[in-house]
Amino acid sequence: MLGPVILAASRSDQMRRFVSAAPGTKQVVDRFIAGETVDQVVPIVVDAADKGLEVTLDVVGEDITTVEQSHAARDAYLELIDRLKDLGLGTKAEMSVKLSMFGQALEGGHELALANVRPVVEAAAAIGTTVTLDAEDHTTLDSMFAIHEELRKDFPQTGCVIQSYLFRTEDDARRLAANGSRVRIVKGAYKEPAEVAYQDKAEIDKAYVRILKILMEGSGYPMIGSHDPRLIAITQELARRAGRKLDEYEFQMLYGIRSDEHLRLAAEGHRMRVYTAYGTDWYGYFMRRLAEKPANLLFFARSVLTK
Ligand code: FAD
Repeated sequence: MLGPVILAASRSDQMRRFVSAAPGTKQVVDRFIAGETVDQVVPIVVDAADKGLEVTLDVVGEDITTVEQSHAARDAYLELIDRLKDLGLGTKAEMSVKLSMFGQALEGGHELALANVRPVVEAAAAIGTTVTLDAEDHTTLDSMFAIHEELRKDFPQTGCVIQSYLFRTEDDARRLAANGSRVRIVKGAYKEPAEVAYQDKAEIDKAYVRILKILMEGSGYPMIGSHDPRLIAITQELARRAGRKLDEYEFQMLYGIRSDEHLRLAAEGHRMRVYTAYGTDWYGYFMRRLAEKPANLLFFARSVLTK
């Protein structure tokens, strides 16, 4: 019940100001956000690599309002990639980007986002890694898939994300599985209306399994973005049935969530990539993490009230 309320609050400027200023917020934010600067996130990439994990790095920020901010987002990723290059970490870290941060919602936003993301994809390829386009709310997806297709002409490793809560996703999965794409499948983290998305958790999970089958049987590279133990076990079984080797798919989980499971799956020989978000504009990302698990909200409330 609380999830949709928190997701609605994630779009409110008033709530943004309240949550950002509340004493105790930082302690809870730190669980999900790896740091504010490149300098703070680099040791986390090194530590993950030492533990046999890979990462995908997200410079947090979305819903920008000016072209200048979209350029700043591009430059933040270019700075990050430069640093990874200097440290020889290119093969351990890929990038995750939100096209909204690259200007997708501004006037002429489709072209602007493409123009901003292309140099990031080029720079990533030059150090031996790649970029995945995150999935945001359903109104942005046609543009995201078109940009994905455009980028793949020169950089076929560019990935994208699909969300099992949307009715459209099985069709998207068929297309992406047939054209050999790298695809992250997730349940979906936005507040979506009943006209376009399943509202019932069991329906979302069943759709996830149908989509997993499509991806595993296809010619692409499935990336399983979930902490759900049932879906992880089902993934292993479907991969086995499809005859996929351990390096022909990967698991992905979020920084700060089920960290023991990251290590367990890596120790079993799986590729495990930790989605690691950092930066100062953490509000939207943080609120989605609260919405996913009501216990996080209680923890947050307690932390604020006891400060
Ligand atoms: P759930 O059933 O929600 O959770 C299973 C279990 O995992 C829970 O019981 C709990 O133990 C644990 N857990 C899950 N979430 C939390 C949390 N926030 N705090 C503490 N414990 C938790 N969504 C998008 O819409 N677009 C994206 O591009 C996107 N990228 C993602 C990338 C990765 C690597 C991951 C893992 C998720 C991403 N998501 C994205 C979020 C996703 O859509 C879900 O909202 C989120 O993963 C929770 O779903 P779940 O599959 O973990 O299952």
